[in-house]
Amino acid sequence: AKGSGKSGWRRYQSDLHTAMVQRLEMRTALHEAIEREQFVLQYQPIVELADQRVTGVEALVRWQHPSRGLLSPFFFVEAAEESGAIVGIGSWVIREALRQFARWRVGNPQTTLRYVSVNVSARQFRTVDFVDQIRRALDESGARPQWLLLEITESLVLRDAEKVLADLKALRAMGVRIAIDDFGTGYSSLSYLRQMPVDVLKLDKSFIDDILTSRQQHALVDAIVTLSHNLDLAVVAEGIEEVGQRAALDAMGCRYGQGYHFAKPLWPADIPALAVAPSAR
Ligand code: C2E
Ligand code: CA
Ligand code: CA
Ligand code: CA
Repeated sequence: AKGSGKSGWRRYQSDLHTAMVQRLEMRTALHEAIEREQFVLQYQPIVELADQRVTGVEALVRWQHPSRGLLSPFFFVEAAEESGAIVGIGSWVIREALRQFARWRVGNPQTTLRYVSVNVSARQFRTVDFVDQIRRALDESGARPQWLLLEITESLVLRDAEKVLADLKALRAMGVRIAIDDFGTGYSSLSYLRQMPVDVLKLDKSFIDDILTSRQQHALVDAIVTLSHNLDLAVVAEGIEEVGQRAALDAMGCRYGQGYHFAKPLWPADIPALAVAPSAR
């Protein structure tokens, strides 16, 4: 039978060994990549649905691998989370995004950019000095706290709520805003979230995908948008790919959106030209 006998056991051991070696190699590679400054950021515009004005950008990390080329987070974020390398990577991401954003903003009053959104992994958020890290990064970059939006996940808010809650309050007292990323993929409810110091809901792409084809999905998103507004939460619809989705969300009163319909993640050099008033484009 499968897996029985000596050869099955050996195969199991050797698979396990391979997996361990791969994990170790990945871990070493990720730490080297930090030291060699191989991570880079792209920025995806977040727009006002009414007039397509670019109000913010989300920083998205990529690994500029010397032999494999530009790697998407799909290939390394999970491994980085497991090995703890995400703490170092994430700290760099915050510093780099704030440095870049301050360059776009300072001395440029006509820009439409109001904030940069940064993804924070649960492991990174739970480091003891996370709030201090943010404070230092803001000081170093000269960026205002209001320019920073931190994207966290529902599961982070649900687990060890005490410490997370205290840190979220401290960040908000500084002026930093908080978004719940991928809303709808987890188990939290809007009424629970309302007790949390949160400013923005990012509605997951899986919710947006079917709003034109499913009446139920349309009704659900409509209800979430209305309820969020009643709770003073701003809503960003993620993964808008079609003009019809943009129009439907706009008609629901959803104010912000992000997706390939507007722009893919872009290199920093391409952002300033987009961040001007729609009439000036
Ligand atoms: P996310 O935070 O949900 O980011 C949105 C992802 O959806 C991005 O993928 C973006 O390129 C993609 N996307 C945006 N609009 C569309 C669309 O219209 N259609 C489709 N099909 N996709 C769209 P990306 O850049 O590959 O990032 C994947 C995930 O990796 C992110 O999902 C986020 O969870 C994680 N990630 C990215 N950067 C960081 C980071 O600096 N730190 C941490 N911890 N995680 C990150
Ligand atoms: Ca995100
Ligand atoms: Ca998301
Ligand atoms: Ca997502």
